Amino acid sequence: MLEIRQVTRRFGQNTAVRDVELEIEQGQMVGIIGRSGAGKSTLLRMINRLIDPSEGSISFQGKEVSALKGAELRRWQRDCAMIFQQFNLVPRLDVLTNVLLGRLNHRSTVLNLMNMFTREERIRAIAALERLDIAQTALQRAGTLSGGQQQRVAIARALMQEPKVILADEPIASLDPLNAKVVMDSLADINAREGITVITNLHTLDTARAYCNRIIGMAKGAVVFDGPPEALTSEA
Ligand code: ADP
Ligand code: ADP
Repeated sequence: MLEIRQVTRRFGQNTAVRDVELEIEQGQMVGIIGRSGAGKSTLLRMINRLIDPSEGSISFQGKEVSALKGAELRRWQRDCAMIFQQFNLVPRLDVLTNVLLGRLNHRSTVLNLMNMFTREERIRAIAALERLDIAQTALQRAGTLSGGQQQRVAIARALMQEPKVILADEPIASLDPLNAKVVMDSLADINAREGITVITNLHTLDTARAYCNRIIGMAKGAVVFDGPPEALTSEA
């Protein structure tokens, strides 16, 4: 369980996230909605410690995330996998290697540098690609795939981390409706079948309504709505 207590993040004079207080239970599928600049991606980045809060605390299963260091921090960053709007694959590397890169947080730096993956890891990577229905692209360069395919590779890479939480920052904002549906269906399926918590920023309310069992609305850094889709009227 993830607890966010009185979290504020400032960038200079600008308060990007303001006094956010949230508890997220394991297995929830949470959609965060709000205008551009509302603080959604800052909130996600604080959860996995890409950046730190200016004030407040974030804890997971009772452990203070901002106090984690070294191996414990690597473990946490493996436990919460990130998915980005622009996929963040390495375009020149093949798809299979991109998925295997999801394992790197498990390893010592020396092994990372040696770039050795075990047979078991390769099998798992292929299985993750099969789960996303793109195993046929395994040997192609990631940069040659369509956006929808690349996002599915990014989800496969996230699964390689065996995460407890997937944090997705506008995962479908660069995709056409058909690919957006495939990607959201995949995230929902992973949430339902594996019980992985999914927290995703979305720019359209309709998507959040269709897929999420909890919607958090943000405006100017603050949480202005938090509830099931049924509780939403027409605001936000
Ligand atoms: P959203 O994801 O809802 O579009 P962001 O979290 O990206 O919102 O941004 C919230 C506010 O914080 C915006 O005003 C943005 O310009 C600012 N901000 C975000 N990241 C930085 C940064 N690294 N440095 C300075 N300001 C930032
Ligand atoms: P989003 O798609 O979430 O709105 P942005 O386009 O606001 O993201 O931000 C893209 C990148 O620029 C992020 O790394 C963010 O931290 C950074 N950033 C956003 N706003 C600012 C800012 N005002 N000053 C410096 N960096 C910023």
